[in-house]
Amino acid sequence: MEIEGVDILVRSPERRTLCIMIDRDARVCVRAPSAMPLDTIRRFVDSRRQWIETRRQAVRERLARTPVRNFTEGESFLFKGQPYPLRFTPDSPAPIVFDRAFIIHERYRRKARQMLVGWYEMKAEQMIGERVKVYADAFDIDYAGVKVRDTRSQWGSCTIDGRLSFSWRLVMCPTRIIDYVVAHELAHRRHMNHSQAFWLLVEKMRPDYKEQQQWLKENSPLLRF
Ligand SMILES: [Zn+2]
Repeated sequence: MEIEGVDILVRSPERRTLCIMIDRDARVCVRAPSAMPLDTIRRFVDSRRQWIETRRQAVRERLARTPVRNFTEGESFLFKGQPYPLRFTPDSPAPIVFDRAFIIHERYRRKARQMLVGWYEMKAEQMIGERVKVYADAFDIDYAGVKVRDTRSQWGSCTIDGRLSFSWRLVMCPTRIIDYVVAHELAHRRHMNHSQAFWLLVEKMRPDYKEQQQWLKENSPLLRF
């Protein structure tokens, strides 16, 4: 190890500044300009020890609450807030079928994750598209289109020209959570910020939105895999 307590050190000629970050697996990553002396980097890291430890602890705690996924028989996966078991069978009519369980054809056992993600994406497109339409009609808000993406850090987003994007992971949440994220993004069609006026509109659309915000905050580790 080149520097005590640093897991990954990347040096590049294009870089002008030093940057320390804690990645998703709680590793300490440092990016530095190629020409910077190791001693300078070391001193900088030393001066940030406390910040590093605090951030690291937060990531570790989140990791501890994230269930381990092996995609094996009987493991449960969420749909609309309810857990359903994963099953493998040699005589399923399709690669993946949902029937009070996620039933995957034996042939795709090793591709179980991919199968599940594909299924979630398909469901997300249907369900979220539908909910956007309901809220847009009810509150007379226009939008240019709905896309489902694989975003880990963001539940939804809205561009200036009205294109809405949502994370497919939302279909793992209870439907009231999907509705909150949908309302939130549609409210950005009126207010491209998080001003008081924006939150008043969200509240008009979802009077109990704070409960849903809280739910997302507490449960997001469950939605990762
Ligand atoms: Zn927002």
